[in-house]
Amino acid sequence: LSFIQSLPKAELHAHLNGSIPISILQELAREYQSGSSTGVSNEVVNAGIEKLLLGPSLDEISDFFALFPAIYALTSTPISLAGAARAVLSTFLDGEHPQCTYLELRSTPRKTDSMSREDYMRTILDEAERYPKDQVGVIVSLDRRMRNDVLQECLDVARKLKEEGRRVVGVDLCGDPMAGNMEDFAKYFAEAKAAGLGITLHIAETVHNTPEETMKLLSFGPDRLGHATFLNDEAKEFVVKNKICIEICLSSNLLCKTVTTLEFHHVRHYLKYNHPIAICTDDILPFRTSLDAEYALLLAPAPFGLGLSEGEVREAAEMSLRSSFRSRI
Ligand code: IMP
Repeated sequence: LSFIQSLPKAELHAHLNGSIPISILQELAREYQSGSSTGVSNEVVNAGIEKLLLGPSLDEISDFFALFPAIYALTSTPISLAGAARAVLSTFLDGEHPQCTYLELRSTPRKTDSMSREDYMRTILDEAERYPKDQVGVIVSLDRRMRNDVLQECLDVARKLKEEGRRVVGVDLCGDPMAGNMEDFAKYFAEAKAAGLGITLHIAETVHNTPEETMKLLSFGPDRLGHATFLNDEAKEFVVKNKICIEICLSSNLLCKTVTTLEFHHVRHYLKYNHPIAICTDDILPFRTSLDAEYALLLAPAPFGLGLSEGEVREAAEMSLRSSFRSRI
């Protein structure tokens, strides 16, 4: 463990609402008023917390997305969102052995009764900017389920905040992997790129994502890719040729059952070619992991881990730092 703790490394793929410590969520649930303006009842919130406490069983990836309405109800005011963001930042960056040297925290701008999408991002940025510049960047996530007018609004918010000199470093594509028509998204990612924002895309996350969709997403010119579990040979060749970093979330893939065992994990392909990867957590709340635990999976011998040497793990950590959007701050 001390070897892993001592490694300088970047966490580049962490979703804010999927990374809230359960104790903080329980606190927020105690303060939550049933029938509040979110329209989510206490019963639904409590059932959601219960599921998270037990460790949710995820038969398919859609079960994972069903966890979020309860969490969202609890982070729908500026005060609760700020508290959640503070706790997530602290989990990664504070303490005697911080999980990472640099964190890129991502979140989807959400409009609630008490916040506009811009207020939402400003609330997170206020917390992120308590840390030094070289420690935290923020990514604005665009959800595949969003309508075009909402996508434009989120992109405009990201651009405006960057122009103001706030800590927005990039734009992400996330959400239900089967939702949305990716043709519609090209315009927004082109605008993000033109504004100097880094681009990271969840791509080929399930076996049902088509090769056509994958090539369309690659045509957006991403700097990094999330998961990239089901790339075909053509897509793999493009990714390797263009040295596009892959954000690897081992526990997430295993628990969402998109990868059966580490023996067959696609990270092995990229390790073989010394291709840039970044080991990440995705959502530490439901997956009950930590960045150190993900690195431990690299070191652990098969079948529990990938059996890499310390030198190889050190190289993976260095790759994560090299692939960050930190220089865009
Ligand atoms: P938020 O963006 O801070 O609200 O974080 C939670 C959101 O991140 C979820 O509602 C999903 O849209 C997205 N998300 C989290 N994990 C994944 C994933 O593995 N694939 C796609 N989207 C994800």
